[in-house]
Amino acid sequence: MPTPGPTRILVLTDGSLPALVATLLAIEEAANTVFLRFEPGSRPAPKSRRRACQRLIELYDLPELIETAPPPPELPISTRLLHSCHTAIELGCRRLVWPVSLGDDLDAAASAAEHAACIERLLGLEVPRQERPQLTTPLLDLTRAQIADLAHDLDAPLQGAWWCQEEGDPPRPTTTRSHTSFPGCGACPPCQRWLAHLSDQPPALAAPVVRPRQAPRVKPKP
Ligand SMILES: [Zn+2]
Repeated sequence: MPTPGPTRILVLTDGSLPALVATLLAIEEAANTVFLRFEPGSRPAPKSRRRACQRLIELYDLPELIETAPPPPELPISTRLLHSCHTAIELGCRRLVWPVSLGDDLDAAASAAEHAACIERLLGLEVPRQERPQLTTPLLDLTRAQIADLAHDLDAPLQGAWWCQEEGDPPRPTTTRSHTSFPGCGACPPCQRWLAHLSDQPPALAAPVVRPRQAPRVKPKP
């Protein structure tokens, strides 16, 4: 039985900017006891997304990426979340972060919040309170613009996310503080959607910020 650490956090990630922002928020709170579970779902470019997650792990010296076989597309999100909750329990994490962001779609946000609440209630039926992870959705009602603002406030290293529609070469880290250092291609639809908001930010946002490595990593309990 793992010993739950009060600050251990498991973040679900698909290599997107919301997942990057959620990871940085978790790191601010829990230093090097943040675990990333890679779940690209049906998102495009899973290999490139995985590489972006690895870069983030290297930047912050986080524990190894947790991966599972890609879930079948028909598998409902509630099933995947429940499975991730059990991974959190195995790791001794007291919180599972689901970085879903639905902006102004209030109905979708309400549905996602209900999903999270139902899963917590379900866990409550069979998992002791002291082992039960809290399922949180810190970005639930944020828009793209608000997430871009948050990324700026957190000095987000943008190479820790994948931006493009298609697979490609890993973005090259650069120290140039200009928008030309945006790590995506800048031309595909996802890049353009994000650049529309990132362009409102000071140039520093487009440059990666390499932070000092954290204290020695914490390995998950066997
Ligand atoms: Zn692109």
